[in-house]
Amino acid sequence: MLPDIQHAIRLQILDDRVAALTKEIAALPKHIAEIEKKLESHQRRLEIDKAALLANQKDRKRLEGEIQAHEQKVSKLKSQMMDAKTNEQYRAFQHEIDFAGQETRKAEDRILELMTDAEPLEKAVKAAEVSLATEKKHVDAEKAAARERTATDQKEIDSLKAERASIVTQMTPSVASNYERIRKGRAGVGISEAAAGRCVRCNIVLRPQFYQDLKKGETIMTCESCGRILYYNPARGVDDLSGGTRVNMSAGTGVASDD
Ligand SMILES: [Zn+2]
Repeated sequence: MLPDIQHAIRLQILDDRVAALTKEIAALPKHIAEIEKKLESHQRRLEIDKAALLANQKDRKRLEGEIQAHEQKVSKLKSQMMDAKTNEQYRAFQHEIDFAGQETRKAEDRILELMTDAEPLEKAVKAAEVSLATEKKHVDAEKAAARERTATDQKEIDSLKAERASIVTQMTPSVASNYERIRKGRAGVGISEAAAGRCVRCNIVLRPQFYQDLKKGETIMTCESCGRILYYNPARGVDDLSGGTRVNMSAGTGVASDD
């Protein structure tokens, strides 16, 4: 195999790895933003429940104050009633006392309702506080892990690029630049194996003469369909002469290679 081809194959491996790492680095902030958004929505939910609970407690306090005021009024009315001069005055006091009593009962009923409402709210707030603390820890840990992962990935990318640069210096400049040009125009893949008479990448059937020439490995050849640099790896493939079916040795067909 031509050294330029060997180098281009290595470049492709390095470039694939760089692409995967770059993709991973780009995905990490997105992942963090997603879990942070979820955390924020849980925090908001907790704030809403807390505010509802606070309003509930305020209402109860206000009603308790009202009850106290009613009770004071009743005791005052009762003492005034002692001094009632006429039955009419007496009944008027009694009427006011009854009214205050009704208002007290109304307030008591409302307090009971509020207490019933508060119970699930209190439970929800307590549970949310516990789960939020756990969630926050998890988010912090994920963020730290993402930072670490990014740094590790970046370090690997740097070393891959260094190796890449040194390989490029060992290549025929036109082959290196060709590889680069094809790779950029062809979804990141500049070189493809040919096996069983086909370009593995675009799957086109190669002309028999073209394939035979390629197998000789004497010149740099490119796929007539996808334009990628082609190589034939005799150590891997076992091709029959017609260039048709690829024979799998492990399948036990017993067909020997002619290369
Ligand atoms: Zn092709």
